[in-house]
Amino acid sequence: MRIGVVGGGQLGRMMGLAGLALGMDFRFLDPSPFAPAASVGEHICGEYDSEDALDLFADDLDVITYEFENIPAATLTLLGEMALVRPGRKALEVSQDRLVEKAFLAEADVPTGEWRPIDSLGQLESALDDFGACIVKTRRFGYDGKGQRRVITANDCRTAWESLGTHPLIVEKLVPFDRELSLVGVRSTAGEVRSWALVENVHLDGILHKTTAPAQGVAAETQQRAEAMMLSVMEALDYVGVLTIELFEVEGGLLVNEIAPRVHNSGHWTIEGAVTSQFENHVRAIAGLPLGSTAVRFASTMVNCIGAMPPACEVLELPGVHLHDYGKTARAGRKVGHITLCDEPRDGRRDYSERIAAVEALISRAQPPVTHV
Ligand code: AMP
Repeated sequence: MRIGVVGGGQLGRMMGLAGLALGMDFRFLDPSPFAPAASVGEHICGEYDSEDALDLFADDLDVITYEFENIPAATLTLLGEMALVRPGRKALEVSQDRLVEKAFLAEADVPTGEWRPIDSLGQLESALDDFGACIVKTRRFGYDGKGQRRVITANDCRTAWESLGTHPLIVEKLVPFDRELSLVGVRSTAGEVRSWALVENVHLDGILHKTTAPAQGVAAETQQRAEAMMLSVMEALDYVGVLTIELFEVEGGLLVNEIAPRVHNSGHWTIEGAVTSQFENHVRAIAGLPLGSTAVRFASTMVNCIGAMPPACEVLELPGVHLHDYGKTARAGRKVGHITLCDEPRDGRRDYSERIAAVEALISRAQPPVTHV
């Protein structure tokens, strides 16, 4: 099986690591000569819209997948003519535009907070009147909290409009959530859907900091409700592969924030914490193979290394720790690795929560070098 991955970052690299064990070969398309996935497959170093690079990339592949959703439409069309692309085009079109995504979710009867498109400062001001506090987002190309502004007062409307108003926008009512959860699921070519446990995510400065898996205190009914949303979304998209639903837990239920048609940072814990990881099940699904169990093996906590890696010799002293270094250069705000701690019974030497605190302390001490311009 020859698998092509658009994007050669850490997600592609972890897909490759999982697929190599199954005897698959990988090729990655990424414009960076330092793409982290290059060490687990062939690397076509080219731009995503270069026809020459796309020709080289798609030659003799069985299936193409991707590790990020902002793939240019023309690239998708070309790739679709050259090979099978999984997940398919509709999933990308829906997730690339927040307005299309919200309309799709409404159509699929999946609950979200209130939203509306806006085209003028006046419309933003009336949204503030109607919604109370709200959040303005660019419809496209936002990630890790970029391209969005909170609007609480009439003054904020003008500031938000001045900084974002040149882009197509959506405004959402600010959801007073108790916590943020996510559900990662997978659908096979035969239409079988499996989901992992709901997890809790904590963000710092708009970037995922920590995932607790499974999320504590989730009622069986809440998990079932989230899985029913997963099923509706996947069936409506005729989906194949892993998909992630980001959720707000609010009094009385769950609201969807957004969907990502790919493996997700909040699913990294599954590498050690679940019977089958999100990466293995993704490559199994797109290759037309049967899915593996998504059951929890160990309660786990995943902490992202942002900016720089902590010293491996100190991290690895902690029992039950799993260190993932993506091989990236240190830089402020960049995801360079992650650490997963499993609550394994053999690790009785130090209490689980004490070890989580130790990992977080080591990560927070690691600083990227200051770049002088
Ligand atoms: P997003 O890029 O849509 O995932 O938003 C980034 C983060 O902003 C989310 O993880 C939430 O913490 C927060 N956020 C986004 N939309 C809303 C909303 N409608 N209400 C409250 N918080 C939000």
